[in-house]
Amino acid sequence: MSLIQLYDTTLRDGAQSEGISFSAVDKLHIAQKLDGLGIHYIEGGWPGSNPKDAEFFAKARNLTFKNSTLVAFGSTRHAKIKAENDANLLALENAGVEAVTIVGKGSELQVTHVLNIALDENLRMIADSIRYLKGKGLTVFFDAEHFFDGFKSNSTYALRVLEVAAEAEADCLVLCDTNGGALPGEIADAIQTAREMTSAPLGIHAHNDSELAVANTLAAVQAGASHVQGTINGYGERCGNANLCSIIPTLKIKMNIDCVTDAQLANLAEVSHYISEVANFTPDNFMPYVGTSAFAHKGGYHVSAMAKWGQSYQHIDPAKVGNKLRVLVSELSGRRNIIDKVKELGLDIELTPEESKKLLEQVKQLESRGFQYEGAEASFELLIHRVKQDYKPPFELVDFIVMVESRRRQSTRKNLDELLSEAIVKVKVGNEIMHTVAEGNGPVNALDLALRKALLQFYPSLTEVKLVDYKVRILEASVGTEAQTRVLIESSDGVNEWQTIGSSTNIIEASWLALADGLEYWLLKHKAAGSS
Ligand SMILES: [Zn+2]
Repeated sequence: MSLIQLYDTTLRDGAQSEGISFSAVDKLHIAQKLDGLGIHYIEGGWPGSNPKDAEFFAKARNLTFKNSTLVAFGSTRHAKIKAENDANLLALENAGVEAVTIVGKGSELQVTHVLNIALDENLRMIADSIRYLKGKGLTVFFDAEHFFDGFKSNSTYALRVLEVAAEAEADCLVLCDTNGGALPGEIADAIQTAREMTSAPLGIHAHNDSELAVANTLAAVQAGASHVQGTINGYGERCGNANLCSIIPTLKIKMNIDCVTDAQLANLAEVSHYISEVANFTPDNFMPYVGTSAFAHKGGYHVSAMAKWGQSYQHIDPAKVGNKLRVLVSELSGRRNIIDKVKELGLDIELTPEESKKLLEQVKQLESRGFQYEGAEASFELLIHRVKQDYKPPFELVDFIVMVESRRRQSTRKNLDELLSEAIVKVKVGNEIMHTVAEGNGPVNALDLALRKALLQFYPSLTEVKLVDYKVRILEASVGTEAQTRVLIESSDGVNEWQTIGSSTNIIEASWLALADGLEYWLLKHKAAGSS
């Protein structure tokens, strides 16, 4: 066992995040990912409070974990009920796990204002519940809820709560900053005071309401806490919990605490993205360590320094957390960015100095017209190909017409407007010019269908390519120009996803450019793979 226990509560506290609803099966998948990350304890949920969590624990009996122990969460017994008759404690006992966490009040004001019971009764509830569960052979973590606020208003009582839990032989006393309002110095002081009072292991559970959850957790570790609770991506109630994606690499890389292995740490970015997918949240690009922008370099000055010394503008080697360095190509770029980008994309293309200069000029030109290649690497790759004299595109756009018509249809109840969209497309493939027409449920859909119709005769495997995301952004008009519309399209062939961009003062033209790039990119890759 490492010196620090990592305890993940994504499945319980994280699931309290606004907008998150994990199914029991989602939870099983997430638990396995957390196991692969080397998390020591995975809190699966509150079996006594909801049927979905009870179902999770029932199904989890069939899982085997390599590194993790599953934990069930619940509260101390209710007032005036004996521990052995308390439904919530019985649910914990019957959850089929080896470890449980029970939460009890660590603050005098919470006991008197919220529980409305005597201060002594709260202490008895805590002691009885821990003793009962320990008597069943379980590992018992005690969450002292509102401990830090309680310590501020009445430290004697807050410490008495810990003392009682320690006497009942809780395996760890977890001090909670439940409302997320504490500062790192306050956390450190309270942990030190608790440290002097008890030899029981101490833990930290911090919330992020002051954006200090990670800092508070690290301060607690420095002050002697040996058990760290948090969630992946910091998901959790209100502003979230302490983010394990920042805590784990900081402990391991910067504080030399060997809480996970190097190989486990290298799974971090993948686990973070996986869980955001399951949560149906867009991954946060700017998240430290794991975000796609965390090691992205844009300024030409930075990029040329990075070429000389790889660590000149980054705090760690991104590979350690499973992330990677990205070179962004933009109007801020120098020629170095272009050369490094070609290398990063793994392209087997040698650009002459003239070609890279030309490419850079083009990028600057296009960016001034609203194109932006940072989120559209497939379009950028096409630009690189197009700058080569000998590049033969799989097709060329000649022109298109799109019609949108609103027709009034009589119905017995009301008049219904029906919008019809039709696109006519002219595309050149080799020496042939294809002319196709298609109707769609909108102008972009009609264009997409007409373009495919033309190309399918030459490239039947294009049926594999699907449009999976379509985003439009209106860019503010700069002086003397009309507002530009930027369209970003994500396409997929079921194996890979790629992003393309179009920009124009006209949304249809912007869409047309992005659509065409999406298909051209796939055809290029597909031909390169020799399977067409
Ligand atoms: Zn919490």
